Amino acid sequence: MKENCFKNIKNLIFDMDDTLYPKNLGICKNGWERLFDVFRTDKKDEFGISHISIDDYKTHGDELLRRHKNFDWDSFMAYVCENDVSSIKTNHKLKEFLTVLPHKKIIYTDADYRHMNKVLQRLEVENLFDQKFTCFDAEFHFKPSEKSFNSFFEKTKINPLESAFFEDSSKNLAVAKKYGMMTILISEEQGDKAFCDFTFPSIEQALEMFK
Ligand SMILES: [Mg+2]
Repeated sequence: MKENCFKNIKNLIFDMDDTLYPKNLGICKNGWERLFDVFRTDKKDEFGISHISIDDYKTHGDELLRRHKNFDWDSFMAYVCENDVSSIKTNHKLKEFLTVLPHKKIIYTDADYRHMNKVLQRLEVENLFDQKFTCFDAEFHFKPSEKSFNSFFEKTKINPLESAFFEDSSKNLAVAKKYGMMTILISEEQGDKAFCDFTFPSIEQALEMFK
């Protein structure tokens, strides 16, 4: 069964943060802290969202920001994603896999392009992807929303049934599974079999399957 399903896979889709580098570096966690700090501090005045409390944001999420017609997403994402990525090291194994595997390779990240470029440069894989899709391409809809996934499939023109998706978030994989993607959880903990086809502790170990 497994061999047949591998034959159909033409596209390798990669989440980036906590998927292409180890979660224990704490970079993504730091990003979430920066995001929540906007709502806990005067920083939110700069973005014209003084009336949104941290509790409101945790309850209603990004929809509150999308209601603002002129919300400055560019500055907001630049602030939230301004993380120190110097702990990320070159990943030679990942580099080799991305170079030799014949599949189409696409980054699908909720991060902004500045952070994405910094991370991919640290890993030394910035030129090894066929396409890169960020929250700017998704018009600031984020995984696991269907709007984000629909926008991803529409703009990249890939067929989800021919695609494997590598992600550290099982919530995102649950939605990916509904679209028919092969789902690969990158995590130390075993994923829910209902929507994670495979679980591996690192991206290098997961990519071994496609050799
Ligand atoms: Mg991630």
